[in-house]
Amino acid sequence: MDFDYDLFVIGGGSGGVRAARIAASEGGAKVGLAEESRMGGTCVIRGCVPKKLMVFASGYQAMAEDAQAYGWTAQVGGFDWPRFRGHLEKELDRLEAAYRGTLKNAGVTIHDARAVVEDAHTVKLASGERLTAKHILIATGGRPFVPEFPGCEHAITSNEIFHLPELPKRLLVVGGGYIASEFACILHGLGVEVCQYYRGAQILRGFDDEARGHVANAMIERGIRIRCGTDVIRLEKSLTGIRVISTDGSDAEFDAVMYATGRAPNSAGLGLEALGVELGRHGQVIVDEWSQTAVPSIFAVGDVTDRINLTPVAIREGHAFADTVFRGVPTKADHELVPSAIFTQPELGSVGLTEEAAREQEPIEVYAAAFRPMQSAFAGRPDRVLMKLIVSAETRKVLGCHIVAPNAGELIQLAAIAVKMGATKEDFDRTVAVHPTMAEELVTLRKPVRTA
Ligand SMILES: Cc1cc2nc3c(=O)[nH]c(=O)nc-3n(C[C@H](O)[C@H](O)[C@H](O)COP(=O)(O)OP(=O)(O)OC[C@H]3O[C@@H](n4cnc5c(N)ncnc54)[C@H](O)[C@@H]3O)c2cc1C
Repeated sequence: MDFDYDLFVIGGGSGGVRAARIAASEGGAKVGLAEESRMGGTCVIRGCVPKKLMVFASGYQAMAEDAQAYGWTAQVGGFDWPRFRGHLEKELDRLEAAYRGTLKNAGVTIHDARAVVEDAHTVKLASGERLTAKHILIATGGRPFVPEFPGCEHAITSNEIFHLPELPKRLLVVGGGYIASEFACILHGLGVEVCQYYRGAQILRGFDDEARGHVANAMIERGIRIRCGTDVIRLEKSLTGIRVISTDGSDAEFDAVMYATGRAPNSAGLGLEALGVELGRHGQVIVDEWSQTAVPSIFAVGDVTDRINLTPVAIREGHAFADTVFRGVPTKADHELVPSAIFTQPELGSVGLTEEAAREQEPIEVYAAAFRPMQSAFAGRPDRVLMKLIVSAETRKVLGCHIVAPNAGELIQLAAIAVKMGATKEDFDRTVAVHPTMAEELVTLRKPVRTA
């Protein structure tokens, strides 16, 4: 049977773009891709990239203060949000154009439209046009999700935060995950008075307990009010802001309330269930290790499958799919030992098991050091760094590495190579320190602080 395309990709985000490019340029496939919004997806348009640029922006006030301790006559004036936002928008336009260019150069046909699946080999565009493909890839990502409660319409999400006409003076962030915590730090750094509510006992659930505590304490020390065990009951618009009534009995007012309590896979209305594609309880597309759904011609990658919702993972999944189906190189996406960073201030970088997970698995030794790093200590800051290794008592392998420090994201990327290679504690020990650095602690941790 003749198809219009060998592959039709729905979604021009991290996973979809990579799969389309590799299938077309290296697999020789005829590829079409539909994107209903802006090319580049969440990461480029409303996620990692604009967020990281805001992280950078939020750091300059503290840098200027530190510069004074180093002898500079440095001062930053007020933060000009519209000026920054204008610059940010230009940068995103540039990146979007680069993504389009890459796809075009690879020979991918772009359809700027919403697409839904009509049958195992047919997609329908918003215009009504029908296109057939031998394979269909669902790469529609996820979206922020605000739960239903009285006044929920007054809440904004991370999607809106980049487009605010002006910065709020008082912001409530609701949620304890990495997106909530990052935006709490970013907005605080930009001069906003920030409060963070989280209904659990400690923010950053799923990360190493000691590291979570370390980050939370540092955020509180910097002036962010974190209120754990607290959830919102209702929001009311008042003349001067948004009134927030909470489960702890408090009644407070903010200028904006940002919800970051979870994200939902973008699978609704795509026509998948009717075709026999299985969806999970949260709407995630269920796939096997080859990213193949229950319908053999339909595959799915990235956040819509809700495996590990990170850009590099979506890219790997998209690449593995294209290698397998179009390059004759069967490849499974590797979800083991995926490093990650949280761009709070200070940052948290992690790879491997948390202490809590490791001790459930096998006997372990825990090596850790918390100390004041040279650069900020000199500037009179109380900031502390945490370097932590979880080691198997039996195999001596480093099972987990957790770093809370400035630029922990950069540090964990390198430590992750060693951990992924199966390095032992003794491999770390025989690596000569780079002095004077913060990371040298990772190779000079002599005695376990605990065993379990
Ligand atoms: C605020 C924020 C910060 C983040 N920070 C980081 C970070 O620091 N590091 C990191 O690794 N990850 C981060 N992430 C996560 C990362 O952005 C996602 O994991 C990644 O973008 C997932 O890629 P994807 O291809 O699965 O989906 P997406 O990038 O979401 O792309 C999906 C695309 O599909 C389009 N689409 C949806 N439905 C249709 C349809 N029916 N027809 C046509 N098009 C459709 C959407 O418009 C979208 O462009 C962040 C996310 C957010 C929200």
